[in-house]
Amino acid sequence: RAKAKGSDRLEVYNRDVYQEFSRYFHVENDLRKAIDRGEFALYYQPQFCLDSGDVCGEEVLVRWKHPIEGTISPGEFISIAEETGLIIPIGEWILREACRQKAKWINEGYPKVPMSVNLSLKQFLQHNIVHTIEKILKETKLPPEYLDLEITESVTVDLDRTLDILNQLIKVGVRISLDDFGTGYSSLQYVGQLPVHELKIDQSFVKKIGKGKEGEAIISMIIHLGRSLELKVIAEGVETKEQLDFLQKQGCDLVQGYYYTKPLSTEEYEQYLRYKDLC
Ligand code: C2E
Ligand code: MG
Ligand code: MG
Ligand code: MG
Repeated sequence: RAKAKGSDRLEVYNRDVYQEFSRYFHVENDLRKAIDRGEFALYYQPQFCLDSGDVCGEEVLVRWKHPIEGTISPGEFISIAEETGLIIPIGEWILREACRQKAKWINEGYPKVPMSVNLSLKQFLQHNIVHTIEKILKETKLPPEYLDLEITESVTVDLDRTLDILNQLIKVGVRISLDDFGTGYSSLQYVGQLPVHELKIDQSFVKKIGKGKEGEAIISMIIHLGRSLELKVIAEGVETKEQLDFLQKQGCDLVQGYYYTKPLSTEEYEQYLRYKDLC
């Protein structure tokens, strides 16, 4: 009986692996075609300065409008795009589209604030990333100070190369943010060495506000660290007034999250800014 049970389990396991495997292949195949078919869409989530209450930036978050599966979130396809190398053309498309939209908004009188674009590890370490970014800024006529690149501390896997790329990007004139800060093993070891402008507190810590000292202590520490290093500090995933009040009291510079709004489509975001009378 035990044996039968064991083999059952094995079958289930194999079926899961098969499903994972075939799903992976479907996603990979569909991903290859998605750029040409125009299936990616950019969504925007505003970032607010806590002292003035103004919109001080926005983060670009990609969505995949799959013709059969519907809207697919980046959590479900970015890692596959990374593993297959498709992140290079997809990431370049995202960068170009974001810069094109930002330049257009600036011309149309929308807030003159930077737009944050997430870069995945492979995209960041790609041999010609600096050239690609310069080319896109030139093509779209976007002044570099309006582009903020979000990288994670995973870039420290190749510290020498990362420092070289970051120094070149700083010369180009773009801004750099360290996303998901505090979640990795090396955050504290490298933060002082990396030439970045901003630390982005991961939402896992924000979720713990009001639920004990642990998350709150880490947040206060990051905010103090940012202040000592003269970096801006932003918190993501802010959903409640309680979280907002805590962050404000601790001296956090910027916030972003559902408390204000979910990421919005281009049209929705334009409407949101107009409604707020920001342009
Ligand atoms: P991230 O850069 O840390 O982005 C924050 C995520 O939190 C986003 O999820 C955003 O929609 C979500 N979020 C914002 N406010 C709240 C909130 O108040 N509560 C909660 N629960 N969630 C909130 P999303 O859009 O699903 O993106 C997930 C991750 O996928 C991103 O994490 C980023 O690592 C990656 N990603 C998204 N867009 C891109 C992209 O264009 N390029 C690359 N390479 N990666 C991207
Ligand atoms: Mg981000
Ligand atoms: Mg993040
Ligand atoms: Mg995150």
